[in-house]
Amino acid sequence: MDSSLQVLFDQVVGRNPGEAEFHQAVAEVLESLGPVVTKHPEYTDAAVIQRLCEPERQIIFRVPWVDDRGDVQINRGFRVEFSSALGPYKGGLRFHPTVYLGIVKFLGFEQIFKNALTGLPIGGGKGGSDFDPKGRSDGEVMRFCQSFMTELYRHIGEYTDVPAGDIGVGGREIGYLFGQYKRITNRYESGMLTGKGLTWGGSQVRKEATGYGTVFFVEEMLKAAGESYDGKRVVVSGSGNVAIYAIEKITQLGGTVVAVSDSSGYVVEESGIDLATLKDVKEVERGRVGDYVARRPDARLGTSGSLWDVPTDIALPCATQNELDEAAAATLASNGCRIVAEGANMPTTSAAIRVLGDAGVLFAPGKAANAGGVATSALEMQQNASRDSWTFEHTERRLDEIMRGIHDRCLATADEYGLPGDYVAGANIAGFIHVADAMLALGLI
Ligand code: NDP
Repeated sequence: MDSSLQVLFDQVVGRNPGEAEFHQAVAEVLESLGPVVTKHPEYTDAAVIQRLCEPERQIIFRVPWVDDRGDVQINRGFRVEFSSALGPYKGGLRFHPTVYLGIVKFLGFEQIFKNALTGLPIGGGKGGSDFDPKGRSDGEVMRFCQSFMTELYRHIGEYTDVPAGDIGVGGREIGYLFGQYKRITNRYESGMLTGKGLTWGGSQVRKEATGYGTVFFVEEMLKAAGESYDGKRVVVSGSGNVAIYAIEKITQLGGTVVAVSDSSGYVVEESGIDLATLKDVKEVERGRVGDYVARRPDARLGTSGSLWDVPTDIALPCATQNELDEAAAATLASNGCRIVAEGANMPTTSAAIRVLGDAGVLFAPGKAANAGGVATSALEMQQNASRDSWTFEHTERRLDEIMRGIHDRCLATADEYGLPGDYVAGANIAGFIHVADAMLALGLI
């Protein structure tokens, strides 16, 4: 890291103790910015980087609710509004027991650059709770969401801050959150939340967008290397929203997904994962990957090692942060993997990224590869603002164009800064410059 940026990074660590994931996300961006601060002293003069590392606003609140046994439960809610230089804060809500301020801040920080890369008018934010929806009844999830929104509603709105889903927050949770916002405010304000259902203000392709977008991004990486998905083996971690729709699009484009996972383990099916069965198990029954194996005679449950031991041409980590470590990266590379693209946010550790780079594996960071979700959320906001709804085909075409644009911007920026083929540097620098220029224009705020 450039020595002046190392000083800034040490200050960030000092000001935000105990937030390892936030430190990691900041380090990954600052490591790319050396050539930018050399070329553009105006960013240093205006303390743009220090300002970006300090959220504009952080909200932490109590979420009390009553479970099915009548017992009172208390969770903690978060919303970190990081940067509104480019538009209203935009970023998902995560409900998972591991959520704490450091996770929300790493996600919100990444979101600034990801949203900037889309070229759409959206700032960066993120939120969530340490509530675990797993094993909870629909009634419990509804009561939790209502209590969560009873505090959150005063901080958000279509011109202020527009949340969406993330881990543990899908269509069901978005529905309960939207319903409570509408009830409290007496406003049918469609543009205050994205990921809505199609009959109440949602957009076609939003559900599919992050997974599809990641696959479109990889398609561009393949094209740049003169290749396609045809005949390629792909391994996808997770089996939630991002993973399922990545699998759907890979299969449509001629690739074969041979392994998937969830937090209970992984499954291998050499002839290709059967998407209908996986959707039944994960989306309808909210079951485990073991339930998939029980229905598919040719599938086997991984009993040792990890998903990353399965030989593959392309790996898409689509589950959670730091799920692909140095050893996994080395195994992927030695088994002939050529591309790793992050469907999830920061699923690859910093050491693993270095191992992949040294082995010549092409690597696409999440802030570029998984930006299709938030981009389509911005398209949902556009449709809400004009009280319109577009067709699936039109919306998917827009998503594809946006992903191609991000891909090309990453490569062009990497070239411009003398780092050809470096998607990490390209994404960090292009995203940073876009938001930094807006910050200079808006003055010291
Ligand atoms: P979901 O909750 O739909 O799915 C998450 C999946 O990851 C589940 O299969 C879950 O398994 C698995 N998982 C979670 N934690 C772990 C763990 N510690 N080890 C192994 N598997 C785990 O979330 P999404 O698909 O929406 O999100 C996945 C990732 O993509 C996250 O990093 C998110 O931030 C990122 N992302 C999501 C976007 C979206 O539009 N939804 C947009 C951009 C990025 P289990 O069911 O067993 O918990």
